[in-house]
Amino acid sequence: MEEVQKVIVESSNIVFFGGAGTSTESGIPDFRSADGLYHAGSGQQYAPEQILSRDFFMSHMAAFYTFYKTKMLYPEAKPNRAHLALAELERRGQLRGIVTQNIDGLHQLAGSRNVLELHGSVLRNYCMSCKAEYPLETIMASADDIPRCEKCQGFIKPDVVLYQESLDMEVLEQAASLITQADVLIVAGTSLTVQPAAGLVRLYEGNRLIIINRDPTPMDHLANARLGGNIGDVLHELVN
Ligand code: ZN
Repeated sequence: MEEVQKVIVESSNIVFFGGAGTSTESGIPDFRSADGLYHAGSGQQYAPEQILSRDFFMSHMAAFYTFYKTKMLYPEAKPNRAHLALAELERRGQLRGIVTQNIDGLHQLAGSRNVLELHGSVLRNYCMSCKAEYPLETIMASADDIPRCEKCQGFIKPDVVLYQESLDMEVLEQAASLITQADVLIVAGTSLTVQPAAGLVRLYEGNRLIIINRDPTPMDHLANARLGGNIGDVLHELVN
């Protein structure tokens, strides 16, 4: 821990790569652990990964929103010590940017500015027909209905990357460039078993890779330091 602290203090080019584990302390569970959805009409049970796919969104939009609103939206969630520590590092001019797989917007709420959201954000929503933009409140206010555009009555879609959809190339390229040029790369709260996470972390060329995760990851052997335990505790201690 002390050695890692020293590495952090001395660097002005730290990049953070985070996954679902970064937000669990804020009360946002990994959606993969959520119960699926029983679809009464078809008598079928859908897994979260099925529901959060483009095909399902287009064919069962009401059921998609039922799951999405109850399992994916946490409008009361607050940034935790992990988010706050990272925002502080950026204010000090040490952290260059955050690459996140999360869609909750908590890094920005904590004060972070350079945040690359690989999977989009629940805070941004748009009309599929006229592209008008809507805040999260519009989705929340739609109650049991599918949220519709005020201007053209088109369907509103969250700006979240669903399964079967491709990632935003521009965001991906910015993330790749940030990680390639990083002096210190902190990876936290991600199993590193899915793309693009694993591929992006492999782009790191330095020798200060720090992995913070409760469970082992397939890239632990590449890490220069591996810290277990709670991400909020670890980052808070590293930064303060
Ligand atoms: Zn519209």
